[in-house]
Amino acid sequence: MNKHLMSNYAPLPLTFDRGDGAWLWDTHGKRYLDSVSGIAVCGLGHAHPAVTAAIRDQAGKLLHTSNLYGIAAQEALAERLCSASEMDSAFFCNSGAEANEAAIKIARLYGHGRGIASPTIIVMENSFHGRTMATLTATGNRKVQAGFEPLLGGFTRAPYNEVNALETIAANNRDVVAILLEPAQGEGGVRIPDAGYLAEVRGICDANGWLMMLDEVQTGMGRTGKWFGWQHEDARPDVMALAKALGNGVPVGACVARDQAARVFGPGSHGSTFGGNPLACRAALAVIDVIEGEALCERAAKLGNRFMDGLTERLGSLPGVVNVRGKGLMLGVELESDCAALVRQAIDAGLLINVTSGNVIRLLPPLIISDEQADLIIDGVSTLVERFVELPVAERA
Ligand code: PLP
Repeated sequence: MNKHLMSNYAPLPLTFDRGDGAWLWDTHGKRYLDSVSGIAVCGLGHAHPAVTAAIRDQAGKLLHTSNLYGIAAQEALAERLCSASEMDSAFFCNSGAEANEAAIKIARLYGHGRGIASPTIIVMENSFHGRTMATLTATGNRKVQAGFEPLLGGFTRAPYNEVNALETIAANNRDVVAILLEPAQGEGGVRIPDAGYLAEVRGICDANGWLMMLDEVQTGMGRTGKWFGWQHEDARPDVMALAKALGNGVPVGACVARDQAARVFGPGSHGSTFGGNPLACRAALAVIDVIEGEALCERAAKLGNRFMDGLTERLGSLPGVVNVRGKGLMLGVELESDCAALVRQAIDAGLLINVTSGNVIRLLPPLIISDEQADLIIDGVSTLVERFVELPVAERA
């Protein structure tokens, strides 16, 4: 570990030099099949020619001028995102945490506009929303919060995927103005809510005048088989946070809103120096073109079924495996015991996987992978898990 880097990460002893599609090469020339996509960022894989061309072209013309002036690519990107999501307007930033910060600020302004002095946002257990003070407060994981107290006020927590709990809060808390949740929880362990849950949350928000705010930072941009996770059940939110795959690796985030929520910010209420600069927006426009042009949402849904079928067949009834679950190309294999050790074993086998929540193998392959590559991942992961669960628990570390 480089002594000039702060110790907030614990990187694996592996450095990549280049990538092409779903393949990555390390600095020694060894090739890996990528089933992480930079944690759901490189949906189009690595070095996608359309994104590369857009970045090259824009870099040769203009990188940055500031939001003091009009930015044509930003306007075009806002229009494309609003049309894909049936929303009204967008604010651009540089990360998922910032997109959620914007959502939280919208909720607070919205609440004050309704005469609520201490506007409160319902957030979920096991959620992840980022590492800034507001978003780590919203995050439902004590490990993320520990040591950073005092946390912010104005949040109340509810169990994910439980509608009754929201109704109880509605009956007892007059300060609630919004709910912030993920359409499927990623960092929290690839938790897919029951069908109909998001639509029910939408109904509760409507009944109580709450904003429904979806953190689509991980689920958005085709990952789950639709542009956005809520589109599986027509639960259009008031506010939606995007980042990760929006720029395929170029940092860009967006907070997209509609109706009342789209009107709460006025000049001076929020901003970002870099947010929505020409380079980031050109990259994101190229990403949208490719997702649309290559029908990658449909492709992600189809590939998701292939993964679910393949992994379920090999691992579904294996002792030591709790279950296989997923939505599109956001997939999880939950084991009975912690399995972080599998990440290094996969690396040895030339495969990149992720483990979250201690015992959930998370697969987030690029949307552009071929059937053959998908089968290689299914086979690679299954072989690793089959070997792993045969070992006594004490020997699995
Ligand atoms: N929201 C969700 C659902 C995420 O998965 C993440 C990152 O993993 C974030 C927010 C934070 O995004 P960023 O790291 O870009 O701030």
